[in-house]
Amino acid sequence: ARELLSMLKGKEDVTADGKHIKLYANIAGVGDVANVLANDAAGIGLFRSEFLYLEAEDYPDEETQFLAYKRVAENMAGKKVVVRTLDIGADKQVDYFNLDKEENPAMGYRAIRICLDRPEIFRTQLRALIRASAYGEIAIMYPMIISVEEVLKIKAIVEEVKKELDEQGIRYGNFEQGIMIETPAAVMMSEELAKEVDFFSIGTNDLTQYTLAMDRQNMKLDTMYDPHHPAILRMIRMTIENGHKGGCWVGICGELGADTTLTETFLKMGIDELSVSPSFVLPVRKIIRETKVK
Ligand code: PEP
Ligand code: MG
Repeated sequence: ARELLSMLKGKEDVTADGKHIKLYANIAGVGDVANVLANDAAGIGLFRSEFLYLEAEDYPDEETQFLAYKRVAENMAGKKVVVRTLDIGADKQVDYFNLDKEENPAMGYRAIRICLDRPEIFRTQLRALIRASAYGEIAIMYPMIISVEEVLKIKAIVEEVKKELDEQGIRYGNFEQGIMIETPAAVMMSEELAKEVDFFSIGTNDLTQYTLAMDRQNMKLDTMYDPHHPAILRMIRMTIENGHKGGCWVGICGELGADTTLTETFLKMGIDELSVSPSFVLPVRKIIRETKVK
């Protein structure tokens, strides 16, 4: 099977009846890019930027971040790189953030909530990302969104950062902005959210946790935590439909996106993108090429 899969390198991600799919890979650091290219992914659909913060002793400065994002953008040579802004808190703790201990960290002070509450941290990351957009096909993705208001606040900060860069004569490219759909609130608001962004990426890991009210890290619930629950599949369908109505492309970057028993289902729902661990790119490509969506 390994030989057969390797024959799929260089082949297009297109269904048996001609629909082109974006088949991207997830990475957690600059070092993973080689693996993305070796597995022939067409882009990076989720670059978890937390590593920059987790591996540092103090807040990573703009230049450190800029160089990391620029390197990934350049190494991907014009292929899309979706960088997710800081998703710290809950399961990902960093000492220098001095976050309080919380009763329910998964439902606590995390991700975009921290970024909007402490905009100086957010601005540094946005400046680095927007500057890196001059060197490749960067897209920026915001995690843990629950409302249109959050997106409007984010977009206002992005506009301020762009204006600041303009004034300083610092160049940048065009970049898409999108959100993770990983809370039930975001699914329910997806029709309105789609009007504000360029793309949706469904985070099935957190979406399953919040929909089923089951801690994704609780080993006792391991056999009950079921991302195949019909509630999750309905939410995915609804997100795709509402995303398309608003002109967004819609992908899945949670683990479920790599589940080849569901690839056909996702394709028939109209999914545009799947972002999977590098080792799943070729197995998923195989199914895409065998499936008819009509
Ligand atoms: C998700 O929640 O599905 C996701 C892709 O993000 P993370 O696993 O990093 O929370
Ligand atoms: Mg998540």
